[in-house]
Amino acid sequence: MFSKYFSSLKIEDLLSTNIADNSEVSEILSGNSLSLLDVAKLITAYHNPFARKSVIEKAVKVRSSIWHNSLFIMPPLYISNGDKKRGGCLDHCLYCPWHNGNVPQEQIIRLSAGAVRDEVKLLLDMGYGDIELVSATDPVLFSGMRAVNYVAAAKNAGAKNVGINFFPFKSAADYSELASAGCTFSIVWQETYLANIYRKMHPCGPKLNMGYRLDAHDRALRGGIKTVGVAFLGGLADWRYETLATIAHARYLRKEYGANIIFGMPRWKNGVGVNITSCTYDDQMYEFVGALYSLAVPQSLPWFSTRENFNLSDRSARGGGCIFTLDCSTEVGGYSHKNGAPQFPVFSTSFKQGAELLKKSGFKINIHLPFGE
Ligand code: SF4
Repeated sequence: MFSKYFSSLKIEDLLSTNIADNSEVSEILSGNSLSLLDVAKLITAYHNPFARKSVIEKAVKVRSSIWHNSLFIMPPLYISNGDKKRGGCLDHCLYCPWHNGNVPQEQIIRLSAGAVRDEVKLLLDMGYGDIELVSATDPVLFSGMRAVNYVAAAKNAGAKNVGINFFPFKSAADYSELASAGCTFSIVWQETYLANIYRKMHPCGPKLNMGYRLDAHDRALRGGIKTVGVAFLGGLADWRYETLATIAHARYLRKEYGANIIFGMPRWKNGVGVNITSCTYDDQMYEFVGALYSLAVPQSLPWFSTRENFNLSDRSARGGGCIFTLDCSTEVGGYSHKNGAPQFPVFSTSFKQGAELLKKSGFKINIHLPFGE
């Protein structure tokens, strides 16, 4: 299990390496694969413009050779922002406007399986093929069985790949049920791999247990899910540490289970009733991290979402081999209704308009993930 394998001291130790000069950066990038120490050296060379340019150019080259400019378009569908008795999510994440007690009663919504089917049909009519179901920590979703109904509803509506981004389930058997219902991927963003920041950001609630979350992907993969998503939430802590820890996590999951990896790229955005001091994680750092993910795990897919503006995502995805979001609502059931409480603001573009812009940039558009079922 990853919680037993992971060592924050090792990550810190790797990042205390001597900063690579231009010739060492070139030598590292000339190889066919990168060790974790190589990745650490590239991260610590970030302030050198030559290193930044070289990393991004090499990532574009690697992506082009594997993915030939193919992008995989997928929308999220938010299905619950918690429970009316709790005033929103069961969790208390300091960075999120849906945290416990912060959502007005009339804006707390949990879709029925029938409503999920209708929203998925709407998204498929817009042109999509795969769907990520997203939920706050909701007491009715603690049972894997209820989640199975939602996955089955999305499958019945015609989605090919259906994934979940829910509070992680307890056992491999739960994920086995979900896989049988047609769930093909499971996303759990770790938010931060630094224990002290994790405790500070999650002062109570189910998410407080960091080890349980660190092992979520092990349980999913043991249960038969083949594709998993890992990420840190940019802005909570030092991006250099978080990037290396996220890559270490992904490489562990590939080595242990042969997992297909999605790298989420969420950056923290402010919201109603939220008050944290964020760390610097600017556009240049963001693009660099996306490139590092593709170099460290070339078969992985970084996910550029509508948290960012279209131009930044378009630039960051060069070469292909990335998931891309166009239409996006972070309101529950927000594709058919527009009066809920968004989790965070987005730069949404219609499927039609966004696909045209991406084609103009030279991308090939795919509506299904490349990993199969
Ligand atoms: S980030 Fe997720 S788990 Fe945390 S409060 Fe928001 S919806 Fe709940």
